[in-house]
Amino acid sequence: MNDRFSDRVLGWFDVHGRKDLPWQQDISAYRVWVSEIMLQQTQVTTVIPFFERFVARLPTVQALAAADEDTVLHYWTGLGYYARARNLHRSAREIVTNHGGQLPMTLDGLLALPGIGRSTAGAIIAIAGDQRGVILDGNVKRVLARHFAVEGWLGERTVADALWQLADQTTPHQRVADYTQAIMDLGATVCMRQPQCGDCPVQQTCLACRTQTTAQYPGRKPRKEKPVKTTRMLIIENPEGEVLLLQRPPTGLWGGLWSFPECDDQNAFIADHGLTMVEEIALRPFRHSFTHYHLDITPMQVRVDTPNASTVAEASARWVLPQSPPPIGFTRPVTRIFEALYSNSLL
Ligand code: SF4
Repeated sequence: MNDRFSDRVLGWFDVHGRKDLPWQQDISAYRVWVSEIMLQQTQVTTVIPFFERFVARLPTVQALAAADEDTVLHYWTGLGYYARARNLHRSAREIVTNHGGQLPMTLDGLLALPGIGRSTAGAIIAIAGDQRGVILDGNVKRVLARHFAVEGWLGERTVADALWQLADQTTPHQRVADYTQAIMDLGATVCMRQPQCGDCPVQQTCLACRTQTTAQYPGRKPRKEKPVKTTRMLIIENPEGEVLLLQRPPTGLWGGLWSFPECDDQNAFIADHGLTMVEEIALRPFRHSFTHYHLDITPMQVRVDTPNASTVAEASARWVLPQSPPPIGFTRPVTRIFEALYSNSLL
């Protein structure tokens, strides 16, 4: 079964697989690593421009390690899941300090680095190291769960164990780099949410397809309503048209990114920071959804008559001109409000 499954997947890849993605050119462990981290929760088409900008500005492990966190987060702004960027940065520094600037090309060595899990490590080993590495990303899980009719939600330990075992059994010993790309491509372009079974090289042995039960696989996560939290964000504008941003603590939600001050009482915040309010405008609330909860945001535009911007002198505070923002990392609500304020769509 193993050879036949992987042979058919490889035969399909030779004809239909993607071979012109940016990280498939000038292959290096660094480029594969960056692409795999970006692809963890984001689709290929979204990742491509981010990847190209990121490696153009930070082309090596050494360049990434030497960059400051604001620069790294700036090049990640818009991709979301910013812990990925912070872990990438920490790992680069560890690689330079402890591994002579070379990614350790063993499963244990890679797993010891922040942000690299078993599947990402397998992909790096297979694609950049051309050694046998096993992957099980979201696309591969979907293919295997359907082909072998693995029941249950993928987040359950027993289901994950069964899929890892199948991933190991189906991974060949030859052409492992191509196979790794091939099985990911198969999931991304054929075995999608609405599978195109007529175009699939493993259709004849696929249990879900044969029993017309593809919609049942992978099993769904038991439903749970996301809680809703609320916050008020202050868009404090000084007479020069600059707005006040505060840097979030280095860990936790939006760690290290720059965002608007949040508080219940804008009058107290304004007074505490030596500012004088001349006007406040309530903007339309909007929702930002995280994996585990929704955040309902009420933006308040507050104009202050305080020309001396140094009245807010904390190191983690800065005044920013929204029309020409500096190259630092912003939270999604900041980019959204910057865009909206100048097209007035929130007003
Ligand atoms: S036959 Fe259909 S369901 Fe089965 S692996 Fe191929 S695309 Fe997915």
